[in-house]
Amino acid sequence: MKQGVFIERDGILNQVQVDRQHQVSPLTLEEFRVNEAIAPLLTKLKAAGLVLIATTNQPGLSRGYQSRRELDRMHDLLRGILPLDDILVCPHDETDRCPCRKPKPGLLVEAAFKWLLDLDRSFVISDKWQDAEAARTAGCTSLLLHSAWVGDGHHDFVLQDLDAIVEKILRLRTAGRAVAA
Ligand SMILES: [Zn+2]
Repeated sequence: MKQGVFIERDGILNQVQVDRQHQVSPLTLEEFRVNEAIAPLLTKLKAAGLVLIATTNQPGLSRGYQSRRELDRMHDLLRGILPLDDILVCPHDETDRCPCRKPKPGLLVEAAFKWLLDLDRSFVISDKWQDAEAARTAGCTSLLLHSAWVGDGHHDFVLQDLDAIVEKILRLRTAGRAVAA
């Protein structure tokens, strides 16, 4: 089974606006700014054999203010710039009580099934506690980027920048293989 890296979209793969301490997802291709600096880091992870999956809660789809067509255009752009294997979206609102809205682990479980990933040996990158919680429930190792949204729940690592996060994953991955051998 392969190892995956689940990467939160907003705030990691693309820029977000911040309004009253909340991140605001871009809703149109025009507003969508890809974090191109992460491309070489993702290429390193991919070269190490890791499967790269972007995950994102987009409740605007069910609330009606995010168009599916516009989201598809944004994600086509994202795939064109970053070497992602897949992008998984929760389109639901809290009130839908779905299993996939993070902090629930549904998107991770879905990706593991689709891509034959070993969740215990997979990683989650985010700037938010919800992803760390999904990682904990799914059995993945969470690496958070230092931010205002880290919270005080469980996480495995909080690091200052994405370079440090990617280096950490590459080291942990090698350590894991040594133990397995
Ligand atoms: Zn959902």
